Amino acid sequence: MQPKQNIVHLPVYQPGKPVDDVKRELGLTEVIKLASNENPFGCSEQAKAAMMEEIANASIYPDGASQKLAAAVAGHLGVERDQLIFGAGSDEVILMIARAYLVPGDETIMADETFPQYKHNSEIENARVIEVPLKDGKHDLEAMLAKVTPRTKIIWICNPNNPTGTIVTGEELDSFMKRVPASVLVVLDEAYCEYINAPEYPDSLAMLKEYRNLVLLRTFSKIYGLAALRVGYAIGHSDVIRSVNQVREPFNTTRMGQAAAAAAIADQAFVRSCRERNAEGLAYLCGEFDRMGLSYFPPYGNFVMVDVKLPSQQVFEALLRKGIIARARWTHYPHHIRITVGSREQNEKFIKALEEVLQAAAVLG
Ligand SMILES: *Cc1c(COP(=O)(O)O)cnc(C)c1O
Repeated sequence: MQPKQNIVHLPVYQPGKPVDDVKRELGLTEVIKLASNENPFGCSEQAKAAMMEEIANASIYPDGASQKLAAAVAGHLGVERDQLIFGAGSDEVILMIARAYLVPGDETIMADETFPQYKHNSEIENARVIEVPLKDGKHDLEAMLAKVTPRTKIIWICNPNNPTGTIVTGEELDSFMKRVPASVLVVLDEAYCEYINAPEYPDSLAMLKEYRNLVLLRTFSKIYGLAALRVGYAIGHSDVIRSVNQVREPFNTTRMGQAAAAAAIADQAFVRSCRERNAEGLAYLCGEFDRMGLSYFPPYGNFVMVDVKLPSQQVFEALLRKGIIARARWTHYPHHIRITVGSREQNEKFIKALEEVLQAAAVLG
């Protein structure tokens, strides 16, 4: 048996290390995972109640079109229901977009480095992946634009960028969109947008009215705290959404996921509280990094990429022995770790552990 030639080199996804594995392997009783940008405050109580209620219907297939959830999201965002498509996380929406638009030999442009699923799914479709280096940890939109050819089908922009946390501004994005050919689909991944208050962050919903080739990706996995339920979505022009719908599996999201997501989006008080606590956490972490003389990329989401002045794997392992799971080994950032903003207590424990690790290695006095 011979699998497709273009997938044989693909790595199997390496998730952040699970807490239970670390506890067992290192004999620790307390382990804090700050590796996958999960919400340290869980999810809305109303979302939990909605999940519980849906248990009774577990034997019945879900509504594949997620109509109730679509109505809730459309109402909240002020878009039409036919501008929305839901997936098993925005990961699946990325897969569906690649499947619907890319044929072998098409070109697709993305940053290096960025969220790995754009490249992964493009390679599965045998498209030609054009990677454009980040500039100071930011998308280099001018360099990306210079790579556009008549074969270009999709440009992926991760905003804020995972792993660096930097953003492209509304002005930059608008100037970019004005010059991208209308035949090129621009996918703007806004997995962390609900965390952001900064006025320079793009008002992408308003831009949708102007650019039919713009598609936004959002998720219930991050600020809404529903990562386990796998619900993400795209917002775009109804023609684009119809094409993506044509490749969607019939029952790609679950009853529990749909019900919890609809309840979660109705509970904006929970979202506000997470946004505020995250901003406090970011301010605390950045203040501590400043105190230690460590540089970091300006963070906008619920994570920070910091230069720890040592090979990141070494710091990762030393933190792990102290019960902190971080993310390390970035291709172009060998001395950076990415850390998720946790609760206040988790952040303080992380800083204490990091300071001990860096002092032991004589990076800090
Ligand atoms: C976490 C994340 C996603 C995907 O999350 P899902 O759980 O699949 O919805 C998408 N894009 C970025 C940049 C992310 O960080």
